[in-house]
Amino acid sequence: MNYHLVLTRRCNLNCQYCHGGEETGPETEIQYSLDELTQFLNKDEDIQLMLYGGEPTLRIPLIVELMNRFPPARFMLQTNALLLNKIPAVFAKRFHSILISIDGPENVTDGYRSKGVYQRVLENVRWLESIGYEGDIVARMAVSQESDIYRDVTHLLNLRNPVFHHVHWQLNVIWDAEGNWQDFDKWVEESYNPGITRLIEDWIEKMEDGIVEGIVPFIPLIYSMLTGETSTMRCGAGIDTFAIHVDGSIGICPISPDWEFSIVGDIRKSHPKDLRNIMTLDEPCLSCDEYGVCGGRCLFTNKQRLWGEEGYKKVCNTVTHLVQSLRRQIPVIKRYITEECISLDDFKYPEFNNGCEIIP
Ligand code: SF4
Ligand code: SF4
Repeated sequence: MNYHLVLTRRCNLNCQYCHGGEETGPETEIQYSLDELTQFLNKDEDIQLMLYGGEPTLRIPLIVELMNRFPPARFMLQTNALLLNKIPAVFAKRFHSILISIDGPENVTDGYRSKGVYQRVLENVRWLESIGYEGDIVARMAVSQESDIYRDVTHLLNLRNPVFHHVHWQLNVIWDAEGNWQDFDKWVEESYNPGITRLIEDWIEKMEDGIVEGIVPFIPLIYSMLTGETSTMRCGAGIDTFAIHVDGSIGICPISPDWEFSIVGDIRKSHPKDLRNIMTLDEPCLSCDEYGVCGGRCLFTNKQRLWGEEGYKKVCNTVTHLVQSLRRQIPVIKRYITEECISLDDFKYPEFNNGCEIIP
């Protein structure tokens, strides 16, 4: 199974939508022994460890120790990349995928994250390239009211030094709506949804030349539409993907250590096989027309509706717009596949759950 391993709750940034930098005190650090972790993980024959925080690169010796302790495990990393180049190259190269927080052009990224972050991130991704890293480098955006999805995704896709193989984003729609958005409805109507439409048009246009650009939310949705394979909870939460929090408790999702409902076990007491499929979605997803493609977006939000019912529907409207806009392109995509400009395999992504939630 897949485990988000929270290496610390501390962060060396304090971004607008997260405020991870405000986490302090001893309870931010791991309170179990690595032997206890080993005993738990040894009960699982196929482990994938997705290193997460806070900022996991604040604990590089621990990263090294984990890689040495679990040689057969597949490793993923989600990082703000400020300290990426401090990981010894041989260990950095072991990550199957590295998700790097960057929100778009310099002014957008630095506006949300801090001055100088954009340049430092690019520098460290160039370092990753320079050591011969062969895994998947994913630009992982947090999209909020200063974002223009068309401009920002296009910017990241067009970078050539360094290159991000994939671009993924999450909308800032989990935490308190009031504090985060001045006018979410207007932003969706005038900026986000039209931006998605334009991105899809550009994406399709390139397919004629055999290029399927790595826009993460589009790719697996098209695969589902082409094959008819339905999906449940694409991030895997509550199904085969769990978080091991710093106190050793096991949750359905890495973002919710403080929500009691989301804690479903403990490494000292649980067996991995008892976790699988432990939590499923509630309505309205199960009777939603788009459930097979959407998969339910976010288990945490489905259970804990911090935006209320009304707000939940508003976010679903962005999903519906995305899904329906992609579906309209299926005939042309099928034609390009028949003409062998592209192939069905171009839409098989991710190879393994790499922490991209897929549905923004
Ligand atoms: S669009 Fe909304 S209601 Fe429908 S499956 Fe997705 S999250 Fe659930
Ligand atoms: S999509 Fe929701 S449930 Fe899934 S990992 Fe992200 S926050 Fe957690």
